Amino acid sequence: MKNIYKYSIPTQNFIARGGLTDIANLLPPHCENILLVTGKNSARKFGYTDIIIDSLKSKGFNTIVFDKVEEDPSVETADAAAKIAIKNNSNAVIGLGGGSALDAAKAAAIGGATGISIGKLLKSNEKITEKLFFVAVPTTAGTGSEATQYSLLSNKEKNTKLNLATENSFPDLALLDAELTASMTENLSRNTGVDALAHAIEGYLTTRSNPFTDILAESAIAIVAENIHRVIEFPNDIDAREKMLLASNIAGRVIAHTGTSACHAVGYYLTLVKGVPHGLANAILLGKIVKWINNFSPVKVAVIEHILKCNVETFMESLGINTSLSNYNLTNDDINSMAALAADRSSTKATPGSPSADELVKLLTS
Ligand code: NAP
Ligand code: FE
Repeated sequence: MKNIYKYSIPTQNFIARGGLTDIANLLPPHCENILLVTGKNSARKFGYTDIIIDSLKSKGFNTIVFDKVEEDPSVETADAAAKIAIKNNSNAVIGLGGGSALDAAKAAAIGGATGISIGKLLKSNEKITEKLFFVAVPTTAGTGSEATQYSLLSNKEKNTKLNLATENSFPDLALLDAELTASMTENLSRNTGVDALAHAIEGYLTTRSNPFTDILAESAIAIVAENIHRVIEFPNDIDAREKMLLASNIAGRVIAHTGTSACHAVGYYLTLVKGVPHGLANAILLGKIVKWINNFSPVKVAVIEHILKCNVETFMESLGINTSLSNYNLTNDDINSMAALAADRSSTKATPGSPSADELVKLLTS
């Protein structure tokens, strides 16, 4: 059969403002022992941890908290969370937080079910289908991790990210509660919002795109274009916050099928070596990658520019993002390593024109 396109995500999704208070009502009764995985500060600071624990307690669920997830979580952190799930006989994991907490929680749900260390799972060629019941509650609007099978874990020695993704690692349930995203600072709203935009644009342009993901990507790009300036200027505009959360989720569904592109592949180095937040790294690189792709897919790039009403670089500037790489003290060695690591990734190979390491160096430095 030729030209066969598939779209499928198994996650049950809920959009509910203030829904965190009632989350226990969404869970199946077998989730007796729950591991709640969060970042180190924000979930507690803004009261989200207390709200969820109260809700779970009211329905008789037992909850243990793992609140040690750092930004761009390491394999070791995910492993530590998985070990707690095993020790406590957890039958469900809830990830509450930004993409970092959700990705670590997703890995813990897999490690907790298999009893195999995350390091071994990452190296395994066997099909892994086991996973504890997994619930994702995003508090940022950007990664769309609640709609993907991916868990991005950092290998800090090799300056790169590993991706734990199994056939069955999509969340079972996702709760999109826009009120949880209103505590984001201006910078966090910007950096995470552009990550959603990057997912939509990269997924739209990659050679793995399909007619289903194209429609989703176009709509995610449009929703971000209409709402991102608003959430930055008016952090309490819950309508705009909900739209951004929706765009992030839709863009997540896109990359769940298409993967990202050379943009994310190069960005991991900027994040892990230069400390540039994940979304911002993509924002800095996206215009340069789109310019390269324009040589191969000019019609799709024109559609993106039509929706944004300008090119990607100008759109980023309208958000106050300086896209010049000269701000990051990158040596020639940095650029070469960044390009070499990225050229090896399958997302770069699926980028139209499959840029080689040398071609990446050229497009990053021209
Ligand atoms: P993040 O690393 O999860 O969080 C960034 C910062 O925001 C942290 O300091 C966090 O605090 C804080 N924070 C989170 N929610 C907040 C809120 N509502 N109010 C105030 N502060 C809040 O950022 P992210 O951009 O969402 O996630 C990035 C990670 O996701 C990267 O590791 C990236 O590789 C991954 N990612 C995954 C996918 C996927 O498909 N799985 C896709 C794209 C990116 P605390 O740490 O204290 O909570
Ligand atoms: Fe991303």
